[in-house]
Amino acid sequence: MAAEKTLLVLENFIGGKFLPCNSYIDSYDPSTGDVYCRVPNSGKAEIEAAVEAAREAFPGWSARSPQERTQVLIRLADLLEQSLEEFAQAESKDQGKTLTLARTMDIPRSVQNFRFFASSILHHTSECTQMDHVGCLHYTVRTPVGIAGLISPWNLPLYLLTWKIAPAIAAGNTVIAKPSELTSVTAWMLCKLLSKAGVPPGVVNIVFGTGSRVGEALVSHPEVPLISFTGSQPTAERITQLSAPHCKKLSLELGGKNPAIIFEDANLEECIPETIRSSFANQGEICLCTSRIFVQKSIYREFLKRFVEATRKWKVGIPSDPTASMGALISKAHLEKVRSYVKKAIAEGAHILCGEGVDKLSLPPRNQDGYFMLPTVITDIKDESCCMKEEIFGPVTCVVPFDSEEEVIKRANSVKYGLAATVWSSNVGRIHRVAKKLQAGLVWTNCWLIRELNLPFGGMKSSGIGREGAKDSYDFFTEIKTITVKH
Ligand code: NAD
Repeated sequence: MAAEKTLLVLENFIGGKFLPCNSYIDSYDPSTGDVYCRVPNSGKAEIEAAVEAAREAFPGWSARSPQERTQVLIRLADLLEQSLEEFAQAESKDQGKTLTLARTMDIPRSVQNFRFFASSILHHTSECTQMDHVGCLHYTVRTPVGIAGLISPWNLPLYLLTWKIAPAIAAGNTVIAKPSELTSVTAWMLCKLLSKAGVPPGVVNIVFGTGSRVGEALVSHPEVPLISFTGSQPTAERITQLSAPHCKKLSLELGGKNPAIIFEDANLEECIPETIRSSFANQGEICLCTSRIFVQKSIYREFLKRFVEATRKWKVGIPSDPTASMGALISKAHLEKVRSYVKKAIAEGAHILCGEGVDKLSLPPRNQDGYFMLPTVITDIKDESCCMKEEIFGPVTCVVPFDSEEEVIKRANSVKYGLAATVWSSNVGRIHRVAKKLQAGLVWTNCWLIRELNLPFGGMKSSGIGREGAKDSYDFFTEIKTITVKH
């Protein structure tokens, strides 16, 4: 009973009010394996209430000028920034990531999402053409779509949720957001800032719960014409099926099996630490993480030796440890799934050079039941192996050799995903050639994860449909109409 009292209990936020739910889901602290929070287990009734609130708020919010909406978004960004430390602590505890990463990436980027769309919404223009021979002028207008359904995953909880809320409300929509049931705390904390920032009741509604219950209720609701989803490919399939009868507008940001291609003329001093980061940042739980490293044969042995040495220095620690590079994975089930891939690789005859099963993980007694795993490097693995084809979404990366440019492009493109890729070379011509031929929505060369929010973000093939960014998000969160005037 004593432990019961200390649990954090979240509430839905509908129509500007916090509302309790009649059923709850346990949420775990990944660094200890303890239940520490209760998340509302919402369903159809809560979605109905949220739709009603969002419908009521829509005429007023969509009628405001972009400048007025901008002011609200800027205030929200400022309030979030003032509470950065509190949010970073909560994100780290809820997700398992290091506090350092939450402080330097997740929460600052969430602040930036509001500031960025507050500004970018002011700079869109529309097209106009003339047909003098028939006395006509044609132009386009954009209007908000209505109630936007936003569904986000657990790996970058507030970062990805605000990447959806900000452009949706900046464009004049009202929203119903559903964060992952595994990481709901910072979304709930954000609700406390909304009215302070001047977001009118019903403009942002946040409904918590599982995908199968409340997620499906949101996706199936006939009055929600648009769904922006970030998550896994199987869930995207289900969302596509459920939204098909209503012809909903869909944006799907899904998984990846991202290659890094390292040519013999790469600057290894820069490439090795950056490829460690691209493989293991956030426990390898970023859709953009590298999980297949192709290294040109002439430097393969040297690269492997230096890469494994550097991986061993990528410290796994409790999330609050300032010297840790990696914290805990999101859940017990996910940890087991990631480990099962390493077992499959061993069964296929691959070699594990460091990490899982090879090195010893040392943790404080209090964290023995946490979901920790060492960064793991696999080699001598075939391109056909599931570890080289499927998204593992954990701290596991495969390193394989290649001979020629043509060969490596073919192999890099031989998976169903097409989200991101990195290319390392000092030959400018090669960089442009290879980047153009890779089937990926994002290609970083001689760097990783430097984001320009103005430009399109998204994947090809099974990595998704649609793009997000200044113009792309604006296009998605608005309807376009062509008007012809005869004079
Ligand atoms: P997931 O698909 O299991 O869940 C994502 C969200 O969808 C959660 O909020 C979940 O509750 C909800 N959901 C689940 N089933 C649903 C259903 N039937 N109807 C409606 N909603 C449902 O994904 P995850 O495990 O939370 O996240 C990891 C995945 O997300 C990985 O595949 C990763 O690559 C991907 N991801 C992609 C990007 C990107 O921008 N492309 C970014 C981050 C993560």
